[in-house]
Amino acid sequence: MTHIIDGKTIAAQIKEDLKHRVGTLESQPGLAVILVGDDPASKVYVGNKIKACEAVGIKSYESRLPAQATQGEILAEIKAFNDNKHVHGILLQLPVPDHLDSEALVQSIAAEKDVDGLSITNAGKLILGHTDGLVPCTPQGSLRLIKSVKDDLTGLNAVVIGRSNLFGKPMAQLLLRENCTVTMAHSRTRNLDEICRGADILVAAVGRAKMVKGDWIKDGAIVIDVGINRMDDGKLCGDVDFDAAKDKAFAITPVPGGVGPMTIACLLENTVKAFETQDKDSLAA
Ligand code: NAP
Repeated sequence: MTHIIDGKTIAAQIKEDLKHRVGTLESQPGLAVILVGDDPASKVYVGNKIKACEAVGIKSYESRLPAQATQGEILAEIKAFNDNKHVHGILLQLPVPDHLDSEALVQSIAAEKDVDGLSITNAGKLILGHTDGLVPCTPQGSLRLIKSVKDDLTGLNAVVIGRSNLFGKPMAQLLLRENCTVTMAHSRTRNLDEICRGADILVAAVGRAKMVKGDWIKDGAIVIDVGINRMDDGKLCGDVDFDAAKDKAFAITPVPGGVGPMTIACLLENTVKAFETQDKDSLAA
């Protein structure tokens, strides 16, 4: 029987645990979310993040800036949150409008408040094996889902399709940390189907509906589908052909209801981790 990995339930458990943890803290963690422009999908994501904060007792600070906002205005907003002691995490909702330099904006977030884990400091810590950094939320959540069905990943062949800074690169690092033998695939990879057939763990993060076919899946593999693609009928679907893949996999995530809910749960967890680090540092000062 194939395990259909239920990200919704696992994420709900993480949030429940966090609510208890936050309840024991002497002050309240705060997360600032900055939204530039009025992209409808981004508005929904930001709304969901703010609702999730409230549910676990994290105070949210929402900053909405118009699509015409300048680089300087957004940098000033980030600086104000960097300097605000009540704000422990800062998230800039991506993508930002084209006239802005999103990398410069992201890098201006103080590393200890960078709950998306995109700063050079946090990316470096992940590569160097420092465990006190903040790790990007979606790969962190994906690893939790993998470990919900198999605890020891030592020696397994893992293939990650996609090499973005937000997902593919940190995912590969996390799997390496778990002693997997990791292959990173991308748009220039040759014989992708063959490479996938060797994967004990296959993680797809491309953004192309049903690109990974059933016969690319090794018998007994763990398949994590990160892709979110909107079909013509309005339904969401992943990068993996779920119906075909589920007959071969040992465990697989559905879309929706797999990786998606884990991203927000890990964002909240990163915010509490950031709070605890900053709280400890301020006590030590
Ligand atoms: P991205 O920055 O666009 O990266 C996509 C990656 O896929 C790139 O590395 C690209 O290779 C690779 N690629 C493109 N076509 C390919 C092909 N034919 N064969 C193999 N690789 C190919 O996207 P992302 O931000 O990593 O996100 C990927 C997907 O995950 C999207 O659908 C996104 O919506 C979803 N996502 C979901 C969550 C969640 O919470 N569930 C979070 C983040 C992302 P090159 O580098 O060579 O161009």
